[in-house]
Amino acid sequence: MPVNENMVQDIVQEVLAKMQIAEAPTGKHGVFTDMNDAIAAAKKSQKILRNMTMDQKEKIISNIRRKTKENAEIFARMGVEETGMGNVGDKILKHHLVAEKTPGTEDIKTEALSGDRGLTLVEMGPFGVIGAITPCTNPSETVLCNSMGMIAGGNTVVFNPHPAAIKTSIYAINLVNEASLEAGGPDNIVCTVEKPTLESSNVMMKHKDIPLIAATGGPGVVTAVLSSGKRGIGAGAGNPPALVDETADIRKAAEDIVNGCTFDNNLPCIAEKEIVAVDSIADELMHYLVNEQGCYAVNEDEQQRLIDVVLANGKLNRKCVGRDAKSLLGMIGINVPSNIRCITFEGAKEHPLIATELMMPILGVVRVKDFEAGVEAALWLEHGNRHSAHIHSKNVDRITTYAKALDTAILVKNGPSYAALGFGGESICTFTIASRTGEGLTSASTFTKRRRCVMSDSLCIR
Ligand code: NAD
Repeated sequence: MPVNENMVQDIVQEVLAKMQIAEAPTGKHGVFTDMNDAIAAAKKSQKILRNMTMDQKEKIISNIRRKTKENAEIFARMGVEETGMGNVGDKILKHHLVAEKTPGTEDIKTEALSGDRGLTLVEMGPFGVIGAITPCTNPSETVLCNSMGMIAGGNTVVFNPHPAAIKTSIYAINLVNEASLEAGGPDNIVCTVEKPTLESSNVMMKHKDIPLIAATGGPGVVTAVLSSGKRGIGAGAGNPPALVDETADIRKAAEDIVNGCTFDNNLPCIAEKEIVAVDSIADELMHYLVNEQGCYAVNEDEQQRLIDVVLANGKLNRKCVGRDAKSLLGMIGINVPSNIRCITFEGAKEHPLIATELMMPILGVVRVKDFEAGVEAALWLEHGNRHSAHIHSKNVDRITTYAKALDTAILVKNGPSYAALGFGGESICTFTIASRTGEGLTSASTFTKRRRCVMSDSLCIR
């Protein structure tokens, strides 16, 4: 193949970018002590990445997929050990899901418009260096999933992970850089700091080289990002209700809801957090929950003891988040066999164990007189997060009414909530669901900007 001037230019640019990387502050596969250094390194690696072909980027992503699968058990054990949350078996499944169903470069699509006045391309271009804030509930899952999507979009990333999950997050960041290097890409394609703090987060949010911030976490961080003056993608809290009406397959609804609720001990933000049941089937549903689905029904005194531990002084007790049902019951002096996987009771929607997003396998049941009252209760319980809601009904008109009323990013019908992430449902996988800012399930295309390239009066060959 003859070498033309453009090819020489490309090679020179690539070599220059690699020289700049050599001068960048050194960090161990993306890990720095200072946030400014992390951003500088990510900026330099982005100069290399933006000159790589889509095919080369896809090779990096394939490597991340392979390594994520190879390390799934390590990530799962590390995450549980470091945060004390979730369970190893489900976390292994989550990492396989991330590896298999997170979209890559195929999500980056070009739109072409052609007509009498020529040809226009609308392309998805990178933002540059994206600042990403990640939670302790799905630490490596979010880092890996964000990395794949952001790199596929041509961006490099600087993470400010939750301090309680820094070891697990750094393991994921190292893995992504190794995957990049092995595929001929740059080191520091994703970066972080050894000790993330609110201060390092503020440096990131104010930095001139960070044009976009993606925040995955509770209401505080999303509000902080949306007040930063930068473009923000806000993946915030939820409190997903599961409404069951009298037309549903009640036995299956009980099974689906408990499966979704107990997945990784209820850590996923999309997981069923409470049930709203129509009066005529509420007893039958409770029967299946307790007698077939491993739910332990707590009486009023036990509910109060749970409130005292789980919401000590009115604040969510972090030591209870992501714990299994047996451990939570153990904390209030109740010993149950290990086939007990969930805690249930009937209560008003205002009950603190129902109205609060607990992220524990505690599933209160709110009894309502009919479907219409159920929609009202579910709407109240979702607290306007517009995040996730679920329904078990065979009546399509009711499903439509519910979907319109709740107006959430995710709505699962007649299945466990995790069907929305690709487990037993048609979906991509993501652990950043942009509920507050409306992008919904994020993927590579979410992390790109639209660019219009217009050729006037030519190249339309019709
Ligand atoms: P968290 O809000 O405590 O922390 C999330 C991240 O934000 C962490 O990195 C934390 O250090 C940072 N942070 C918190 N307050 C901040 C502030 N004021 N300024 C800057 N950074 C700040 O949440 P968590 O306990 O790690 O995760 C659980 C929460 O996240 C739940 O509310 C859950 O619903 C939500 N979540 C949402 C999604 C989604 O896709 N929508 C995914 C996972 C978790």
